[in-house]
Amino acid sequence: MSNVLRWDKGDLALYYQITVQLLQQVPVPYDLLLAKCDDHICTHEEDINCFYNELVNVMKYAAKCAIQLVRGDNSKPYWNVVLQQLKEDSIQAHLVWAAIGKPRQGWLNRFRLHCKYKYKIAIKNAALAFEWDVDDELSEHYLRKDMDQLWKKMVFKKEYRTIACWTVYWPAGYCKPISRGIFGLLF
Ligand SMILES: [Zn+2]
Repeated sequence: MSNVLRWDKGDLALYYQITVQLLQQVPVPYDLLLAKCDDHICTHEEDINCFYNELVNVMKYAAKCAIQLVRGDNSKPYWNVVLQQLKEDSIQAHLVWAAIGKPRQGWLNRFRLHCKYKYKIAIKNAALAFEWDVDDELSEHYLRKDMDQLWKKMVFKKEYRTIACWTVYWPAGYCKPISRGIFGLLF
């Protein structure tokens, strides 16, 4: 188990303020935008990774300052705040049900089961949607015989745990262009 950032409960204004301030201080490697790779060897990887890490570090730092952490499940890369909430609801319902002697009948038992199944179904759907997304892209690249992209996507699939966390937990709106920027550079 590791921690999940609760974007829904965090101070987004503070997060925004910190990222604006710090991102402006990160030097942009403009030369990379104009640079061309050799046919077989890319010599820009280190610079791209370096820039990427600087951006990610700023966002991690801002999140640490402004966004609350709760325990989450690191083995599920698609984990998000909705699943976290359903999990908490299910646990609460279970505790109340257990406290009154675990009755097998009655509305509280039905409510407990309702919360439990809702949570289980949501996890299943989120896992399927996540797998489909990655697999769709893989087969697209394969059909277009875009082996370079296919290879990159395979690496991405392998490492998606870290990266996907960022896309999943990015709050809607202002952070999207930043993430697109990063992924634009990478893929
Ligand atoms: Zn290159």
